[in-house]
Amino acid sequence: MEYEEICGVYQQLESTTKGLEKTKILSEFLGKIKSCPETIYLLQGKVFPDYDERVLGISQKLSIKAIAKATGISETEVIKEFKHLGDLGKVAEKIIGSKKQSVLFSKKLTVKKVLTNLRKLSELEGKGTVNKKLGLIIELLHSAKPAQAKYIIRTAIGDMKVGVGSGLLRDAIIESCFKPKNIKQKKEYIEIVQDAYNKSTDFAEVFEKTHKNKLKDISLSPGKPVKVMLFPKAKDVEDAFRIVGKPAAFEFKYDGFRVMINKDEKGDIKIFTRRLDNVTKQFPDIVRYAKEHIKAKAYIIDAEVVGYDPKTKQYQPFQAISQRIKRKYDIKKLEKQLPVELNVFDIIFYNSKNLISEKFEQRRKILEKIIKPAKYKIVLAEQIITNKKKKVEKFFDKAIKEGQEGLMAKSLEAPYKPGARVGYGVKLKPEDKDFDLVITEAEYGTGKRAGWLTSFDVSCRHEDKLLEIGKVSTGLKEKESEGLSFKELTKKLKKLIVEEHGRKVKVKPEIVVTVQYQNIQKSPTYSSGWALRFPRIKQLRPDRNKEDIATLTEIKKEV
Ligand code: AMP
Repeated sequence: MEYEEICGVYQQLESTTKGLEKTKILSEFLGKIKSCPETIYLLQGKVFPDYDERVLGISQKLSIKAIAKATGISETEVIKEFKHLGDLGKVAEKIIGSKKQSVLFSKKLTVKKVLTNLRKLSELEGKGTVNKKLGLIIELLHSAKPAQAKYIIRTAIGDMKVGVGSGLLRDAIIESCFKPKNIKQKKEYIEIVQDAYNKSTDFAEVFEKTHKNKLKDISLSPGKPVKVMLFPKAKDVEDAFRIVGKPAAFEFKYDGFRVMINKDEKGDIKIFTRRLDNVTKQFPDIVRYAKEHIKAKAYIIDAEVVGYDPKTKQYQPFQAISQRIKRKYDIKKLEKQLPVELNVFDIIFYNSKNLISEKFEQRRKILEKIIKPAKYKIVLAEQIITNKKKKVEKFFDKAIKEGQEGLMAKSLEAPYKPGARVGYGVKLKPEDKDFDLVITEAEYGTGKRAGWLTSFDVSCRHEDKLLEIGKVSTGLKEKESEGLSFKELTKKLKKLIVEEHGRKVKVKPEIVVTVQYQNIQKSPTYSSGWALRFPRIKQLRPDRNKEDIATLTEIKKEV
């Protein structure tokens, strides 16, 4: 397929903000790509499936260089255009449009060529990387028409602006493959296709299997990350019983971060976070514990990693060990300084069997059978099964006294639903007023803080959209040694800038922070219609991404 064709779809998508129209445009196009389902990644503004953690590593700076070199215009000139247009894609379109040399548009670009070159970007490492990356983008730009150049640059920097979220894509697949006759039918298909996606996390596979009528073939396979099941909040113990049924299992809610430990048939162990990042290298200790204490040929196990003080053996809040998630050096040292215990609470694949349809009670039994617990290494989540409120309350107090966050209540009968917040389990926490939100915009400070981003627009989620809910500028430290500092956050955000307007910048929504607040008010200022009052950044959540953040519905419940 020619790249021009997909660019036509991008253009149509950009011309409307209406979800239904976008779905129609997409579903018509899907009909044409049956032989190359990977084209779907480009529609998402990506080149790999969602579960794949490879990144292209193309910064704004590099794109500016590529545009300059491909067109023979100076970088200063490109930057000038960027300041004016605020979108590097548009800059590429404009400059290429104004050049008329014959070298341009030399060859017709195919979807395959674009995918190949962009994918190669992620493989490059070491000496000469920058030049090789430039070469790959320039080659594409040389064959690109102006509008194509726009989308190539946007895909390379990871900011497509076309708005194809996963809900929209799912609906388009349904529309194109099933053509549901009414809302009821559509809802049924949504359930089926969403379920398949949650297992596969790959829209190309879902699309291919849907149109071949083989959705049932999508299963779990250890080694390929799968989305974790999520838990809504219960108001109190009675509410928890109402949602999950009686009797129910109650477990400590450990204050750490979620991992899925995968062991494949060959014995290879991989650890994924809930945002599907592979963190195996960062946690050789967990790999060891899994090897020594879990007896099974293959598995996918769901667990919480909790830190403890190596001297006092006191459990520590998530913040204390969060740096272990991203740290790529001094691993051995860190392993000793910030030891972790694995608290196992679920299993969804065992030997060659997919367990997601088994009852939780049954899955727990398997865990009990195959795990040899060892305190401060690997343990089973502490659990009671009861129908008595009093017992739960006592257990809750115990969890809090031991430094954990509260309890999880779980239905004994329920299956596991990857990626869904279905209420097969709920969390019970002491009254807390915070939400995990994603930073979408930021502003540089002035005076003493001129080089730092000091104010951050945070957003919640509503279906596929991110909606702003406040501006936060407190909670960060001046000095790096005192905790999360302006400098550290600025460094992280600078790599994600996609637009600049004076002191304001727009960033890729990748940095998730826990924001505490005093109350929530209606507000016309923000796109969510609500504002957090007196917000303050409590911590970074490097283990989470924009899909894990609070939804508008959850926030409204707290008003
Ligand atoms: P929250 O982060 O507040 O949405 O609470 C849900 C998270 O609690 C899960 O994603 C897990 O990371 C964590 N968690 C801690 N202990 C457990 C447990 N026993 N069962 C399930 N999740 C747990």
